[in-house]
Amino acid sequence: MNKELRKVVIAGNWKMNKTATETKALLAEMKEKLPESNATILLCVPAINIGTAMDAVAGTQINIGAQNCHWAKNGAFTAEISADMLNDFGVKYAIIGHSERRQYFGETDETVNKRAMACLEGGICPIICVGENLEEREKDITKDVIKVQIEKGLAGFTAENMKNSIIAYEPVWAIGTGKTATAQQAEEVCAYIRGLLAEMFGNETAQAVTIQYGGSMNAKNAAELLAMENIDGGLIGGASLKADDFATIVSCVK
Ligand code: PEP
Repeated sequence: MNKELRKVVIAGNWKMNKTATETKALLAEMKEKLPESNATILLCVPAINIGTAMDAVAGTQINIGAQNCHWAKNGAFTAEISADMLNDFGVKYAIIGHSERRQYFGETDETVNKRAMACLEGGICPIICVGENLEEREKDITKDVIKVQIEKGLAGFTAENMKNSIIAYEPVWAIGTGKTATAQQAEEVCAYIRGLLAEMFGNETAQAVTIQYGGSMNAKNAAELLAMENIDGGLIGGASLKADDFATIVSCVK
């Protein structure tokens, strides 16, 4: 399978931004401004606003996703949300293992793996985030770091699980910093990830998996990044909070 046949997913990560009222207003603007697209358009909003957002986008091309999902079906896990709860709203995607979760909330490759598995069991596509920090890039150990995150994060996955998941390559040094990986740097790591997936699950599966780039993707750099052979979409933070910028990024999908 080549790039043309893979699913392109343009996903926004709203992080801890927007009240319910602001969510309605921004989605109304998005509905007006987003061009029709062959890509899957996804906005991952704070859990408390998923219901509001789902109602706001009903009947449009916009999908609403979550930013996390717990591994247990239910129970004494204060402040967490389960796949069943997400399913009840019709949520089909959840970001798992974002670097902010790893950095501030103790997320590890093991918990990423458990959360991703719970998503898959619940019929939700996990967007599994991996990426090196600045020190690791400067030490030239990016690929070693990615290899560990991929192998541990996807432990126990079948090829079918893999096909039902998305990988987001997000260099930590590029998230929210305005520093974007060059298209060549991003492509090199995304191609490396696809190679790892081929070793683990076979080439046919690896070729079918959507691999996104994330890290200060914006209206200016999106076209070049999205044109790369192994970059099948974006996970976008800051620019997904501006309807005009997000619309421009969507329009870059060929
Ligand atoms: C992100 O939150 O996943 C992200 C890539 O953020 P930003 O686009 O703001 O760098």
